Amino acid sequence: MQKLVAENRLHTVCESAHCPNLGECWSKGTATLMILGETCTRSCRFCAVQTGRPSGVDWDEPRRAAEAVAAMGLRHAVLTSVARDELPDGGASVWAATIRAVRERNPATRIEVLIPDFRGKRNDLLLVLAAKPDIVNHNVETVPRLQRLVRPQARYERSLELLQRVKQEGFPAKTGLMLGIGEQEEEIASTLTQIAALGVDILTLGQYLRPSLNHLPIDRWVTPQEFSSWREFALQLGFRFVESGPLVRSSYHAEEQVI
Ligand code: SF4
Ligand code: SF4
Repeated sequence: MQKLVAENRLHTVCESAHCPNLGECWSKGTATLMILGETCTRSCRFCAVQTGRPSGVDWDEPRRAAEAVAAMGLRHAVLTSVARDELPDGGASVWAATIRAVRERNPATRIEVLIPDFRGKRNDLLLVLAAKPDIVNHNVETVPRLQRLVRPQARYERSLELLQRVKQEGFPAKTGLMLGIGEQEEEIASTLTQIAALGVDILTLGQYLRPSLNHLPIDRWVTPQEFSSWREFALQLGFRFVESGPLVRSSYHAEEQVI
């Protein structure tokens, strides 16, 4: 599988993030492919992706992504990207072309997209949605108070607006938070309540892990019992699927979340 991905000059988040779930996910036909290059215009303080000025757009990438999904035999393909704030459309046209290419080559594969906020530009989001992904994920990552510290170029309200639009356009919506990065219990409760009120369908909660000493320190280790309590809390708020546990990542058990 790793060879197939490398041959298509793509990379998986599963490998680059040393995800502990790789064996389980890949054996179930789920993997997360990163598009739009490996250099991000943003500098979120929890994320291992390198920050810088990316090189141009690679218009052959959609075809290679489609080939990689076919070669890996994925039943559930998760596509994600770096933020490309330097591009006029934030990379939305490449996103749309990739979704279409993957679908055309792999009609039976479910396509989940984990998208950036496109700086709140509605038309960029609509361009992506016009390609009809099966699930639209956008992570809020943390509670409102910590947004500036954790992801300085993002805005909590902007992420909420995006999720709301996704629902208004009739798509299943998904989001996630890291726990253990400095949030308080009541902040988690109010954030989940706000997100549930938008009608978001799927929620993931996982432990924050520090990628290097240059990243934010871990504030605390959240116990499996606390993750279970948040799962119950979120289900009562109306989320249809909740994955909550120390090793949970955005795409963990994604193939089971059928709306
Ligand atoms: Fe890949 Fe996501 Fe599974 Fe980790 S949880 S192995 S990143 S698909
Ligand atoms: Fe990492 Fe995404 Fe933030 Fe870029 S926008 S630094 S890829 S989390």
